Amino acid sequence: MESCCQMPVNESSIMTNCPVCHLKGKRVPLITLKSLLKPTSLETINHEECYAFCSNPSCEVVYFSHSKTFSKDMLKVRVYQKDEGLDVPVCYCFNWTRERIIEAMQDNERPTDHIREQVQAGRCGCEVNNPQGSCCLGNVAAFMKTVNTNHTPNTNECFFHKKKKATPSTYRLHD
Ligand SMILES: [Zn+2]
Repeated sequence: MESCCQMPVNESSIMTNCPVCHLKGKRVPLITLKSLLKPTSLETINHEECYAFCSNPSCEVVYFSHSKTFSKDMLKVRVYQKDEGLDVPVCYCFNWTRERIIEAMQDNERPTDHIREQVQAGRCGCEVNNPQGSCCLGNVAAFMKTVNTNHTPNTNECFFHKKKKATPSTYRLHD
């Protein structure tokens, strides 16, 4: 997958598995926590520790280190991987929420093309905007696939009715 943010890797000092759900986490730069934690939580970080991101949707933990965990209510933003809301961003830098992606796709636009243009123009800031601390393009592409699969054309006819509402069953516009 494409990536727009570089981060130093020092695997030896990283706690790799989430202490709550035990799934493997992914290293995040400290600047991501500094940017996205609420002040009371930010006051508890240790700049000498390494932090990782837990992407498990059913786990409350967003960041963890050897000594500490930060749950999703400790962040200033809602976390895409842990919040199914349609108004939650998939791309945080350019505010592509689930809803906006679905709407763009209904208009036959490709959000990933828009995001790629911004990335190529050097405008993205995933490490300070996106809780996962890295590029969102993989998430956007994966989300677009879930929208497409629910839009399954059984016949060729549907394929040509591009304006047909593509409300996906997994992401209903109204609950
Ligand atoms: Zn976890």
